[in-house]
Amino acid sequence: MSALVVGGAMIEAVRGDITREPVDAIVNAANSTLLGGGGVDGAIHRAGGPGILSECRALGGCEAGEAKATSGGELRARFVIHTVGPIYRDGRQGEAALLAGCHKRSLEVALELGARSVAFPAISCGVYGYPVHEAAPIAVRAVAEFLRAHSGIELVRFVLYSPEVYREFEHALEMLRPSPGRERS
Ligand code: ADP
Repeated sequence: MSALVVGGAMIEAVRGDITREPVDAIVNAANSTLLGGGGVDGAIHRAGGPGILSECRALGGCEAGEAKATSGGELRARFVIHTVGPIYRDGRQGEAALLAGCHKRSLEVALELGARSVAFPAISCGVYGYPVHEAAPIAVRAVAEFLRAHSGIELVRFVLYSPEVYREFEHALEMLRPSPGRERS
C-alpha cells in the first residue's frame, strides 16, 4: 500500500477488488448508457445485485466527465457513484480534462451524499484504452487538488486490480509527495 496525506485527508493506492471495499462510496467506471458493461462495471453490478441497475435505468445515462449516484445495493459500500471516463484516442482530444473532471465530479457527488471515504478504480484504463502511465498522475492530481480545496472527505483509496496498474498509481502518488530538493508542481 502507498499513501499520502493531502489537505488533512489520506490518498491511498492498494491492490484489490473494488467491489469488496468497505468505504462509504465506490466509483464505477461506467459507460454513457449506465446500463452495465464489462470490466469493473460488470463486476460492480454482479456483486451489488440487480437493484443498482434498476436505479441506473432511472438516471437517463451520463456524459463523459460527469457522475451520478445510486445506492450500493448489496455491496459493503453505501453508494455507487457512476462516472464515465473518456475513450482515449490520441491524447489531444481533451481526454486529460475529461479524466480529471470525472474524479472531481465524483468527489463532488460524494460530498453531497455525505460520504467520507471513497474508492476509485483506474477509470478509462481498461477497454477505454487510456495509457495508465498517463492516466495515473492525472487521477491522483485531480483528487489531491479537490482534497486541498474541500473538507469532508477523509479517505480516497485507489483500488487497482493489476500489479502494473498499481505500480503506476504508486509512482504517481510518490511524485506528489513533497520532498527536499524536488519542486512541488
Ligand atoms: P474503462 O471502460 O473506463 O476503461 P474498465 O472496467 O474496462 O473501464 O477498466 C478500468 C480498470 O478497472 C482496469 O484497470 C481494470 O483492470 C480494472 N478492474 C476491473 N475489475 C476490477 C475490480 N473488480 N476492482 C478494481 N478494478 C477493476
